[in-house]
Amino acid sequence: MIPTILPTYNRAPLSFVEGAGAWLVTDDGRRYLDLGAGIAVNALGHANPDLVAALTAQAGKLWHVSNLYQIPAQQRLADLLVAATFADTVFFTNSGTEACELAVKMARKYWFDRGRPDRTRILTFTGSFHGRSSAGIAAAGSEKMTHGFGPLLPGFTHLPWGDHAALDAAIRDADVGAVLVEPVQGEGGIRPMPDACLKGLRDLCDATGVLMILDEVQCGMGRTGRLFAHEWAGITPDIMMVAKGIGGGFPLGAVLATENAASGMTAGTHGSTYGGNPLACAVGARVMEIVADDAFLAEVNRKAGQFRQGLDSLVARHPDVFEAVRGQGLMIGLKCRAANTDIVKAGYAAGVLTVPAADNVIRILPPLNIPEDDIAEALRRLDTAASAVAQAAA
Ligand SMILES: *Cc1c(COP(=O)(O)O)cnc(C)c1O
Repeated sequence: MIPTILPTYNRAPLSFVEGAGAWLVTDDGRRYLDLGAGIAVNALGHANPDLVAALTAQAGKLWHVSNLYQIPAQQRLADLLVAATFADTVFFTNSGTEACELAVKMARKYWFDRGRPDRTRILTFTGSFHGRSSAGIAAAGSEKMTHGFGPLLPGFTHLPWGDHAALDAAIRDADVGAVLVEPVQGEGGIRPMPDACLKGLRDLCDATGVLMILDEVQCGMGRTGRLFAHEWAGITPDIMMVAKGIGGGFPLGAVLATENAASGMTAGTHGSTYGGNPLACAVGARVMEIVADDAFLAEVNRKAGQFRQGLDSLVARHPDVFEAVRGQGLMIGLKCRAANTDIVKAGYAAGVLTVPAADNVIRILPPLNIPEDDIAEALRRLDTAASAVAQAAA
């Protein structure tokens, strides 16, 4: 018989019922150090008092009004995002994949309105992840996500990640309207696009008019130690997708864009019932106030240094289990020699949660405000997990 919850997830036998900071507690009272943070969602930890206060204050006043009306909480968050970024305008969604949908529509409408309805093609990269909507799976294009779901939304070309020559050739094709890329691939195994490549891509976009869409759903909102990952490369996109960390655990996403890139999206061209909901935006504004702050981001970088140093020695101690550390800021990948899923499972036994990714990587995406003591404890628990995996293999 089919489970009463559609069985699309491979779930671990862990039932969490409460959390505080970087810790989660199961229904039978076991405590786990959470280095996954809901896959980079709980950016400020579980039950963060500032976010609880922002949510409950809004919940006592107004939960929902339609986008038929002005929504002050939404305006406030939009103003914060515009003030802190390249963007001139923001559309709010409930998720990352909805942000992908709009980014694709926005790019196509941009060219349509310029008398180039042929410039519909969007270049993406292998190993990408842009969510599970029809546009999201077509954009990423992997067999794993698209198998059985055809016909796929047409108009995407998937270029090999890191192949500059292929990009350089493809981007000059007359029907290309946009390029869509994660500055740091998340699901793909924590693969940062080197700064020089992002710069080169920006130059190619400038030369051809192709719109640059960045998917910062996972790598944005302070995760890499800058508010948005593209800031490391000193470039700005035309369109950017945000979600995950921006809501701190409340469903919220956004598309940020320049006035030019967004010019086709006039009244009636797009909408969402819940997008920019007052509850979500009240929390999002509090997250922005905390994260879009130089002192906060400096702390993220300092903690990333501490984590990185500990992980480097962990890898050195367990050369049969791990191969290398990669990533940026608190978006860390451990490239494994043992099976990543075995290490994640050994982590459960050691009371530490990590997230597997493609390319035999485990992801470490802790709350951005994880205390130093918890980082030290996390490193001890990862060491215990690694020893267990090494022993099982021996
Ligand atoms: C998670 C993720 C998405 C999809 O977000 P959802 O909220 O699950 O729809 C899109 N892009 C990237 C890079 C992601 O990590």
